Amino acid sequence: MHAEVIIPRNISRLRSTLIYRVPEPLAGILRPGHEVRIPLKTKKISGTVARILTDAPAYPTKDILEIINLQPYLAPWQMRLMLWISDYYACPLYKALELFVPKRILRKHRPPATEEIYPDSPAVPRELHTLTPDQQKILDEILASQKRVSLIHGITGSGKTEIYLHAAKYLIGRGRQVLMLVPEISLTPQTVSYFERIFEGKIAVIHSRLTDTQKTIAWKNIFENQAQVVIGSRSALFAPFQNLGLIIMDEEHEFSYKQDQSPRYHARDVILKIAEFLPEVKVVFGSATPSVETYYRAKNGEFNLLFLTERIERQPLPKISIIDMRDELKKKNYSVFSEHLADEIAQTLNRKEQAILFLNKRGTNSAVICRECGYVAKCKNCSSAMTYHFWGQSSQRPAPTLICHHCGYNTLPPLTCPICKSMAIRFIGSGTEKVENELAKLFPTAKILRADKDTTRKRESFKKIYCDFRDHKADILIGTQLISHGLHLSKVSLVGIMLADIGLLFPDFRAGEKTFQLLTQVAGRAGRILRKNNLADKVIIQTYMPENPILRAVQNYDYEKMYESEISARRPSKYPPFSHLIKLTFSHKDEQECIKAINRAKALLREKTRAIRQTADKGVNIFEISAYPSFWPKIKGKYIYNILIKTLAPNPEIVAPFIDIEGWKIDVDPISTL
Ligand code: ADP
Ligand code: ZN
Ligand code: ZN
Repeated sequence: MHAEVIIPRNISRLRSTLIYRVPEPLAGILRPGHEVRIPLKTKKISGTVARILTDAPAYPTKDILEIINLQPYLAPWQMRLMLWISDYYACPLYKALELFVPKRILRKHRPPATEEIYPDSPAVPRELHTLTPDQQKILDEILASQKRVSLIHGITGSGKTEIYLHAAKYLIGRGRQVLMLVPEISLTPQTVSYFERIFEGKIAVIHSRLTDTQKTIAWKNIFENQAQVVIGSRSALFAPFQNLGLIIMDEEHEFSYKQDQSPRYHARDVILKIAEFLPEVKVVFGSATPSVETYYRAKNGEFNLLFLTERIERQPLPKISIIDMRDELKKKNYSVFSEHLADEIAQTLNRKEQAILFLNKRGTNSAVICRECGYVAKCKNCSSAMTYHFWGQSSQRPAPTLICHHCGYNTLPPLTCPICKSMAIRFIGSGTEKVENELAKLFPTAKILRADKDTTRKRESFKKIYCDFRDHKADILIGTQLISHGLHLSKVSLVGIMLADIGLLFPDFRAGEKTFQLLTQVAGRAGRILRKNNLADKVIIQTYMPENPILRAVQNYDYEKMYESEISARRPSKYPPFSHLIKLTFSHKDEQECIKAINRAKALLREKTRAIRQTADKGVNIFEISAYPSFWPKIKGKYIYNILIKTLAPNPEIVAPFIDIEGWKIDVDPISTL
């Protein structure tokens, strides 16, 4: 008997597994997932058994020396999941393994010292609400249905979270573990606090910012079944559950569920694999704006499709109006605020209520140009325009700086044009900083908070901004997409979207869907309570493209319209859900090297496709292979080219030659084609 053993990455960069003989005493005991000691050259190292092989290899092999831990860290279903991730997402096995076991445990093979305390503020206990009949019906269907995967399509504030809490409680009552996934822990303080308050003492919180020690302690609590509820961002999927019964994925459409480095997995697809391996697990996806792909599958009967169409207490959805910013220019209003928005902000302040202003661009101005010769200040390492930050890198005192949002390179803004020496340097476009400056001039007594990457660099800073705003220590919150999630704030009666056009202009097939989702989420921050003064809450969208169908769909809360238009656009061009995409990216300092590598790869891919087509009985369904420079053709001094493969099912064999090869990146089911 032989075994294929995963080698830790620091030992071998070339091979991720080696084959060893299983000596007689270990045969029959050894299982996939076991940590074993193995000889490698002159050393003894530890590795993880990936597979037991029945056929001996044609070459001589060394023996496995011993089993290190008799209880494998990974259950058989987790081993299968790990192999699937390495196969499907085309990543080396050791990288897939590192998802599951904290490095510290893999390295030291011992649990952490228990005196290290898990930091936690004491939670005020909270009772569950009694579900409304609509909520109860959905809960019953989730629990009773033959289909194990359910999608709740419920508008913001319709009570989805309350259903999750009830479902979780039900399964814990039956001795099962529950996983609650959120897009990002630090951005969803309210959902996390609900769960912490209801499941105090049996909950583990997992996210990527935990220290190694915190991670190891949480891991151990789950492994030993002391934590029955796990709430976390995507990495929580790989916690060592012992008897998982329910997986909830809130805000299913969020792109942060996709990991942007190898293994580039998508949490939704990993969940569906887990459900396939563990037939007793129930899955609940929830969103006000489900991804087009998931909605397509639900509509085709693959998932339970459940609707919540009314807000709790039947609060009306806020009225959304669209302002044509071209009219403002005609009126010679050059400010970032239309007259209407400025007027509504004034009224909101008068009523002692709060406003949220959203702009998906940080900084003061988005570009610095010369009006004489057209010069644009660009990063010396990247192809992108530099952003002007009046406050520089800190918010303490003004420090005018140009910052590259790709690599962080910063420099002083030019006073004269470096090309034609003209003084006609202009700062164009606006970011959150500029909105803040103009707002302060317009409403000098209003208290303003700003939440963007510049103000939330520190661990707890978003939570602080959120708490200050919730406690009405400020009147207006300005923010980027950081503020689009899970904030239920009862005093917010106005939401202003400063410029809706930013996302719509990206040349990507998901641009419309993504903009619809983002703007709908942001709009959903208003209209949270029924106002005594009988004034409905308002959402104001400013744009230069008022006729855009996506913006119209946002205005009318018409998800179906957006969905139908996306589906009819993607069907003929075979974009997801009508295909899977694989994006291969090559980057190099020398552009000619890039082009050579891309051309060679394209030829190889064509050849492989042909070869597979000849041997496979059904043929392979590769629709298209195309190559093009990235939307950001140069980043951090390297040129970037993409190859896009459209296929019916990702075939691991096709991309195998590019796995772990210097310069290449493989992204299966990428978020964007850019
Ligand atoms: P969603 O997750 O769909 O945005 P939530 O579950 O957060 O909605 O519910 C919105 C608000 O309504 C919350 O303040 C929540 O506490 C409240 N709520 C939800 N369900 C009920 C219920 N059955 N009875 C009373 N209040 C409820
Ligand atoms: Zn110039
Ligand atoms: Zn740069």
